[in-house]
Amino acid sequence: METMTSSTSAEEIMAMEDKYGAHNYHPLPVVLSRGEGVFVWDVDGKRYYDFLSAYSAVNQGHCHPKIVGAMTDQAQKLALTSRAFYNDCLGEYEKYVTQYFGFDKVLPMNTGAEGVETALKLVRKWGHKKKGIPQNESKIIVCDGNFHGRTITIVSFSNDPEACDDYGPFTPGFVSIPYNDLASLEKELEDPNVCAFMVEPIQGEAGVFVPDEGYLSKAFDLCKSKNVLFVADEVQTGIARTGKLLACDHEGVHPDVLILGKAISGGVFPVSAVLADDDIMLVIKPGEHGSTFGGNPIACKVAIAALDVIRDEDLANKAERLGSLMRRELENIDTDMITLVRGKGLLNAIVIKSKDGKEAWDVCLALKENGLLAKPTHGDIIRFAPPLVITEEQLMECVEIIGRTIQQF
Ligand code: PMP
Repeated sequence: METMTSSTSAEEIMAMEDKYGAHNYHPLPVVLSRGEGVFVWDVDGKRYYDFLSAYSAVNQGHCHPKIVGAMTDQAQKLALTSRAFYNDCLGEYEKYVTQYFGFDKVLPMNTGAEGVETALKLVRKWGHKKKGIPQNESKIIVCDGNFHGRTITIVSFSNDPEACDDYGPFTPGFVSIPYNDLASLEKELEDPNVCAFMVEPIQGEAGVFVPDEGYLSKAFDLCKSKNVLFVADEVQTGIARTGKLLACDHEGVHPDVLILGKAISGGVFPVSAVLADDDIMLVIKPGEHGSTFGGNPIACKVAIAALDVIRDEDLANKAERLGSLMRRELENIDTDMITLVRGKGLLNAIVIKSKDGKEAWDVCLALKENGLLAKPTHGDIIRFAPPLVITEEQLMECVEIIGRTIQQF
């Protein structure tokens, strides 16, 4: 039987994945074995700046000692009880996280997609029980270009062919409108059967699309005028990434339902959460929704530690300051290959114009050679989202690597 030894080469490891793993991803050809702060190392000991941060899960940096410590401590005491019994960590975490974000209640889950599914079920139930929408007739408004996860229901309202082709039949009850378009929202809100509007404050997977200033606050007000719940999917934008604790904070919007994932655990463990006030959350009664692992003791301790780090290390303000600096420096790179720089805080992207047949993927391969890892999205966009613990000096070094690499082409 083939097993891995410390001398297994990167090529052998990639071949093993290729042979035994489903081909549902197309990773950059680099095999990582260690991480610390902003850095990751490959199996040959080469060091890289991580400019993806596991799609913004590792905002606090790789293997943050406080978060890892919380995980290993709790793992030795009690890992999982299921929700059939109480455990001595969940209540403490629920109190902590609700006070941290300013909601009455939290419903703990594991992955981002599960958080989204939870929010969808919650708003549908609220629509029926509280708004009086007839059974099976409720509608949820979403936005074109959305990415909320991979379940059948979630891909039912995706308009990305890669995400949804061949997976039908799909879940009904969703209507998709253009992103950043208040007139379309206003029109769809005329339907009295609409229970919620779900939106990413910045569309991450679509390529870091930042809506116009005022979009979120006006969308929120429109929803309020029609008794429709405003659901913010901050799985990627949340937890200091965009320069505020939540991306909605840039516009003073306190969503009715908030979905968090990824960085709520600093990337060490799958943790997600749905937050809402009592009049919404309590429509779900015992037995009506859940997850075996949701709210497990390790997740609770990890999430508290991860959120402590965000506050103790002032990562939101850091992301705001370094993000502006980064965009300014990227705009100064002398090249015709970068056609656009956009983003907020440390969630940024550049748009690449292909040159001599070389695309964003080739740029990422060259960045890898030069010690920086990033991944293209939708062909021509490269997202730059380093861990928020990056220093200004490190960031300047990274901008230099990016500039030098692009000028190679
Ligand atoms: N919502 C958003 C906005 C996301 O960016 C993602 C993941 N990229 C998800 C939900 C799904 O999270 P997960 O992969 O943990 O299911």
